[in-house]
Amino acid sequence: MTDSWRGYHLIGGNPTLDLVNTVSWRLDPARTFDRLTAPGFLSLWLTRTDLAHLTDDETAVIDPLSELRETVYRLLTAPVPADVARFGASVAAARGLAVAEPAMPLRWTVPINRIDDVVPALTLIADDFLRSPDAALVRQCAGAGCGWLFLDRTRNHSRQWCSSQDCGNRERARRHYRKAHPARG
Ligand SMILES: [Zn+2]
Repeated sequence: MTDSWRGYHLIGGNPTLDLVNTVSWRLDPARTFDRLTAPGFLSLWLTRTDLAHLTDDETAVIDPLSELRETVYRLLTAPVPADVARFGASVAAARGLAVAEPAMPLRWTVPINRIDDVVPALTLIADDFLRSPDAALVRQCAGAGCGWLFLDRTRNHSRQWCSSQDCGNRERARRHYRKAHPARG
């Protein structure tokens, strides 16, 4: 269970990007690792993101949750009308299950009390995020093959890496090596 967490970091700044980042090495098919398929990962993720504390069997929601995740990923990186429509239909369905506190501004959420609540809850969380100004700050890591998404809150929009310790260091080392050994590229 802890193995499935190795190399994963909650760097997205919000649950929507952290969900997208449950795929590691997305842009390098030889290394791609989908953590959602690892037994127990989802429960651990829900706990560590503070969204819910569940012990239910998560098997049944892995496929629909992956589908939501991939739709959101495409909306954030290369949106097409079909994905907007697909996401819109999911939001409409989730809204049917949502409740809001009687306080302004109204915020519709699906409380996560059992595993079946996870997909509609994350759909509405993603909807809030995709309609927020932060959605325009999403960047994809420049590390070779990485593919993780993060919020670039730097003033001049200059952040390149998901993490300066991981991809940042790796790329700096790669560039340094190329400079030192140009022939071996
Ligand atoms: Zn990265």
